[in-house]
Amino acid sequence: MKYRSILLFGAPGSGKGTQGRVLAELPGIFYFASGDAFRALKDDDPLAKKFRDYSNRGELVPDDLTVELCCQHIKSREGDGGFQPENDWLLLDGIPRNPEQVNMMVETIDVRAILHLACPDIEPIVERIIKRAAIEGRQDDANEDVVRNRFATYTRETEPVLEQYDASLRHDINGTQTPIEVCADIMQVLKSLG
Ligand code: ADP
Repeated sequence: MKYRSILLFGAPGSGKGTQGRVLAELPGIFYFASGDAFRALKDDDPLAKKFRDYSNRGELVPDDLTVELCCQHIKSREGDGGFQPENDWLLLDGIPRNPEQVNMMVETIDVRAILHLACPDIEPIVERIIKRAAIEGRQDDANEDVVRNRFATYTRETEPVLEQYDASLRHDINGTQTPIEVCADIMQVLKSLG
């Protein structure tokens, strides 16, 4: 059986993480962020080193390693009861992140909605990310060139994912609103899904 899924989609700094933390607390939703799964790896895990190498350049980790890590994590939460696919929506943040990952996950997820946090102007976001890096200690955010490369990666590799799904699944949400307003718009969509 495929997991009934919702994708949380948006450029770096579009507010996905902020909204994700709220969504993770909602009943009936199991929230999974691929970036969090990578960051939770132990320092001596070989995949942790790979992750640091790629993310510190603003690049994606190779697809096979990423999909395996994420699917394993979700399965193990299914195993311990943290995720109950018969009751819960699977809310994915950060994966699938390119067309190949969409293909690799086609047998695993049944995408019913895409929450797309849209931010037309990247300049204020680049600034926001660099400021945030100091607070959160994220290496991949601290350097402006790396942040810009993450945007380029998003445009080149991730945006095409939107084209792979039926347009009717996509809900564009204005990510430049206040977090509460973005949250309210997301709730509206979730409510409509039943
Ligand atoms: P952001 O959305 O701010 O770019 P994430 O926390 O989602 O940050 O991801 C951080 C890094 O983790 C990415 O730049 C990438 O190197 C790696 N990563 C996360 N998800 C994926 C994925 N689905 N495929 C490949 N790499 C990924």
